[in-house]
Amino acid sequence: MCKYDVLIIGAGPGGIFSAYELTKLNPALRILILESGHPLQKRKCPIDGKKIKSCIGCKPCSIMNGFGGAGAFSDGKYNITNQFGGTLYEYIGKAEALDLMRYVDEINLSYGGKGTKLYSTANSEIKKQCLQNGLHLLDASVRHLGTDINYVVLENLYNHLKDKVEFRFHCAANKVEKTEAGYRVTAGDDVFEAEKCIISAGRSGSKWMETVCSDLHIQTKSNRVDIGVRVELPAEVFSHLTDELYESKIVYRTEKYGDLVRTFCMNPKGAVVNENTNGIVTVNGHSYEDPAKQTENTNFALLVSKTFSEPFKDSNGYGESVARLSNMLGGGVIVQRFGDLIQGRRSTHDRIRQSFTTPTLNATPGDLSLVIPKRILDGIIEMIYALDKVAPGTANVDTLLYGVEVKFYNMEVQLDENLQTCHEGLFVIGDCSGITHSLSHASASGVHVARYICNQ
Ligand SMILES: Cc1cc2nc3c(=O)[nH]c(=O)nc-3n(C[C@H](O)[C@H](O)[C@H](O)COP(=O)(O)OP(=O)(O)OC[C@H]3O[C@@H](n4cnc5c(N)ncnc54)[C@H](O)[C@@H]3O)c2cc1C
Repeated sequence: MCKYDVLIIGAGPGGIFSAYELTKLNPALRILILESGHPLQKRKCPIDGKKIKSCIGCKPCSIMNGFGGAGAFSDGKYNITNQFGGTLYEYIGKAEALDLMRYVDEINLSYGGKGTKLYSTANSEIKKQCLQNGLHLLDASVRHLGTDINYVVLENLYNHLKDKVEFRFHCAANKVEKTEAGYRVTAGDDVFEAEKCIISAGRSGSKWMETVCSDLHIQTKSNRVDIGVRVELPAEVFSHLTDELYESKIVYRTEKYGDLVRTFCMNPKGAVVNENTNGIVTVNGHSYEDPAKQTENTNFALLVSKTFSEPFKDSNGYGESVARLSNMLGGGVIVQRFGDLIQGRRSTHDRIRQSFTTPTLNATPGDLSLVIPKRILDGIIEMIYALDKVAPGTANVDTLLYGVEVKFYNMEVQLDENLQTCHEGLFVIGDCSGITHSLSHASASGVHVARYICNQ
């Protein structure tokens, strides 16, 4: 039995930034981080586009698990805003949330991110153009580290932490129990005890988090699920937006149903990639800061949020079923040209080959209308035509749509303003709390809890 002051479960941005702040404020603390995935340098997704073309379901998945969490091979876009990326501000206040995100940004800069660009929507002409076309551009500052610099920052943070914190990799926490002095965490045959426990298990730990909440009688409520497609088109079509803003979060209300459709995770000159969440293959995207690694295409997601309440509550289960359908028909992700979708026909290998837009992901040509519910697909089509007015060419025949993109949100864990559960000393941060869905919010939540622990 090993005893610690603070035990952190998960070495994603939430766990890393809580460890960083704890060691900074109180170097005497004995801190343990349990991580089910690999150390950073051992993380490698086997998909090489040649021998291995699609997800083979590695356990643990190197994209989602390991030092750096789901963010390690992400695009490293740190959005400094309360308008999206989570609802941390509802717990800690808007000014505090922004301050923490700026603090995280400073740390990222001093650990390798110096020289990367900070984009901003402030005073942008594009906002006006959007409004004139029924589109709403959300306010944000975006630090784009890029997948390459993001990796360097993580490497430097690991080197900084490795002598101050004990790391156990390939060590998945199975059980969290309350003891008189704090918490006992079991991971396989190992048992650890600590006065305080911070859970930061991310999206990949969502199912496990549900069992922890149920065992410890912590209240939760169902969250939303976002379903949609990833759009890929020639970078020139969006260059006036991406050159100025890098990432533009644009929201559109559909005329047909009044649903909100939004752009998400824009990757100028980036690549479309597979994402494996609990065995279901969905689609995502990223891009590099290094021009040598950039592609000719820009990709972004178009998503519609769905929340269920009565009699069906399982929003994530709904999203999983839609994603499973695409996996069943396409053996993974399906790709379709916008023109084929509008003409009511599937895309084929020949049609994709004839396309002027070359796909960056090797997906199965097919028909997304057989997978995505009509209401959602109608909304996406409407938004593509609306975007075509501010970025002509978006609704071209050869625009590629990959499906499905699903953003699963963890159920929301009941927490107080210190992100503490109903059990004193047990904190839940980052995406597994259901209140953050981004690198900046997850990292900020880690700093917030660390400061609270050290102030006690
Ligand atoms: C491909 C991709 C691109 C993305 N791009 C962006 C982007 O550009 N900008 C942005 O803001 N967000 C992006 N995101 C989302 C972002 O990565 C997450 O919001 C962020 O990583 C959440 O941080 P976290 O610490 O809460 O959880 P995670 O990063 O998910 O980390 C949780 C960690 O906990 C570990 N874990 C889980 N269960 C256990 C257990 N039982 N025991 C021990 N360890 C466990 C996991 O292995 C994982 O390493 C992207 C995500 C993906 C997958």
